[in-house]
Order: sequence, then structure tokens, then C-alpha cells
Amino acid sequence: MERRYQDERFEKAEPAHIRAYQLERVGKMVAHAWRTNPFYRDHWLARGGKRGKIGSFEEFRDKIPIVRKKDYVADQAAYPPYGKRLARVIDGKEPFYIFNTSGTSGQGVEVHAMTERERRAGYAVSAYCYRWAGLEPGDKFFLCFGISMLGGGRIELYGLENYGLTVFPVGNYDVNRKLELMQRFKPQAVMATTSYIGHLGAVGVEKGSLHRPKVLFGGGEGASFSWFEMQQEIWGAPFFNHYGATQNRVDLIYPCERGIGTRDHPGMLHNIDPGFFLEVLDPETGRQVKDGERGELVVTSLIHPDFPLIRYAMGDAAVYHTPNYCSCGRPFCGIELATVGRIDDMKKIKGINVWPDAVDEALFVHGGVDEYQVVLSRDATQSDVATVRLMAKPELDAGAVEALCEKARCALREKIGIRFEVVSVPQGGIARSEYKARRWIDQRS
Ligand SMILES: [Zn+2]
Repeated sequence: MERRYQDERFEKAEPAHIRAYQLERVGKMVAHAWRTNPFYRDHWLARGGKRGKIGSFEEFRDKIPIVRKKDYVADQAAYPPYGKRLARVIDGKEPFYIFNTSGTSGQGVEVHAMTERERRAGYAVSAYCYRWAGLEPGDKFFLCFGISMLGGGRIELYGLENYGLTVFPVGNYDVNRKLELMQRFKPQAVMATTSYIGHLGAVGVEKGSLHRPKVLFGGGEGASFSWFEMQQEIWGAPFFNHYGATQNRVDLIYPCERGIGTRDHPGMLHNIDPGFFLEVLDPETGRQVKDGERGELVVTSLIHPDFPLIRYAMGDAAVYHTPNYCSCGRPFCGIELATVGRIDDMKKIKGINVWPDAVDEALFVHGGVDEYQVVLSRDATQSDVATVRLMAKPELDAGAVEALCEKARCALREKIGIRFEVVSVPQGGIARSEYKARRWIDQRS
């Protein structure tokens, strides 16, 4: 496999060298935040944080408490609209880039800011994504995110233009218009939220006119291995699904040339270690998990001194891997493809912990599933009932749909360990998701 390096100084370095570099940057960020950011200072002092030199990552974990979305939202409520964390914006002596989060978590909207030098520092991170995926300056790129107050869209646009791509910001058009424009301009790459790539592909196939780009980029949500594999077949292009959120102000975890990898050894999404320090923590103990274990992603930015992000718990869980999981040989740690999900997405059904991506995998592994929904309810005896409403692909006849439902029942029983009812619904009975996939309906409370 040909390696496409963005920055050999880091990508060919020893892991110990990368760790030493990160530790030095972490120490500087923390010292700077103690001095200049009253939000972090007060947050840390109130939770037993300790000043002083940080000589190891263990010391970092012991001295600096984590911070969560609710802490940012409370700060903003106390000091509207920006909070003490972003006090520099109120002084207003320079231009800022201001973003909102979408508020889909139901915990309120966070405001984020960055300065011009922070925006530029982000380019050195996002360039890895496009380089690893094989894009060259001048390639035409369809960006299907809307351009708005949200970070998603504008953040990618900055990085894409800086990399030297010809960007078509088509996010504000409907799906038919996007497909028409794609036919006309024939871009080498298309980027959208992960599930929207599926939506675009399905509508394009229905119309009998789907342009085949060189590369697909998704983000903003996870999906199962089978689902990624299916999209690669539909589009005839590799699928690079990245990870990042508004808090990071640049996407920071990317697949390398191995892409989605294989079913037996799924691809790794590498954290861009020179830009961010990634911890994956056991939710029970708060300690770093081992290779192959699942935990919550906690991110410290090494490139945002003006508006720091220090030990921010993302609310997302994934399976952690040390660098040697991936055959590409890069010294960057990361997470396994198709394991990312919201910490609070985990469902308790009949006393069993169920992760939505495991259900995704059990259903999409059978090529005939077009879309599905899971409805959780209770029967007369107050026992949990899990019902999958399965919409089969239009080309399947009634007999094939019945066989597909039976296969799905068996796969769910085997993979998840509990019984799911599976009922078929006609084509059009389930809307394809245009944004974050919303497949679960919990009617039990
Ligand atoms: Zn790799």
C-alpha cells in the first residue's frame, strides 16, 4: 500500500517522540489557561485541580479535572452570551470565528470561538485528511454541509480551501439539485454527514444517475462496517469517515490509506497527535482503557491557546487502539472504525446493554435492508419489547422480504443476545434520515 504522507516529521517519528512532543504542549496549554482563562481556573479549583508542572500524562490526569458540555452551558448561562471561557470575545479588539453547536443532545447550545491564528493552526490538522484520502490541489470537492452558525460546514470549508481544492458549497440545495450539480460538475470528492451520503446514493440510484467520485467523505456520526461497505459498492469509491466536533474547531481523527479496512480487521481512525492529545477513558474508573477496549473520548487541543480545550469529555464512546493496530506504521493512536457512538445512546433492553451500532451491523450485513427503525415498548406484564420495523430494498419480492426478516431475527438474537420482533414495512414507510440518523424510538417511559 502506497503511503501518502502529509508531514513526515511526525508520521515517521517514533511513538515516544510524539508523546514527548504532546506532553510539552499539554504543559504549556495548561499553564497558559491557569494564567489567562478564568473559566478553566475556577472550574479546576472547584474540583480539586492542582497547579504546577506537568511531568507525565498521569500527572495531567491527576491534576486537571475533565470538563463537559454542561459546564460550558452553565458558564454561558451565568455570563451570557459567551461565558467567562470566551471573555476575550467581549473585549472585541480583533476578529473572531463564532460557532454554535446544534443542540441535538438536548442539553443546550454551546458557543465556540477561535482566533485567526487558531484557524491557521487547524489547517495543519485538516490537511492530513485530504492527503491520506489521495486528493490533489485543484480537485473538485462537493461540500454538502450547510454554511451556517454551526461549526460543521464552515470549519471544513476553511480547511478545504486552504488545502487548494475547488470547493462547491452545495449544502443549501435539496437532494435532487445536488445530484444534478454533481452530474454537471463531476467532482472528484463528495463530503456530507455520514447518513446523508447514504441518502444521496439511494436517491441517485433511484433516478438512474449517480456520478461516481474518486472519494467519499462522511462525518458527524458513525455507522456499521456493513453500511460503509454497502456505500462503497453503491458509489464505487472509498469511504473516509472522519471524527470531530464543534468543540475541536477542526476534525481531528481520520482514516489512513487503509480506509474502512476489512471485516476481520476494521480500519483505524488515527488521531492527529501533533494537534490533539486523545484520551479514551473507562467511564467507571476514569482511567485510560487498553488497546481494543471501549471508552469515552476526552480531547485536549494542542493548537488552541486563545480559547483552550482541555480534557473536554466529548460524550462519545469508541474502541481505542494504540498505533501498532494499523499496518500503515504511523505513530498516531486512534479509534476503530464503526465503533463510535454517543455514550448516552446505549440502551438497556431486558437488562442487557445494547449499542445501536451493533444492531446496525446485525441488520445491514444482509444486503437487502434499505432502512429500519427500532421501537422499544412494554407489554402487559411490563417486559421490554424491541420491535424492528424493516424496510427492504424495492427490488425484493414478498417471499424475499419474509426471508430477510427471518434472517434479521436470527442475527439479532445471535449478536445481541435478546429477542427482537421484526416486521416489514412497505417502501416509503420509513423516511431516510437527512441529518443525524434517528432510528430509535423509546416508548417505555
Ligand atoms: Zn493507519
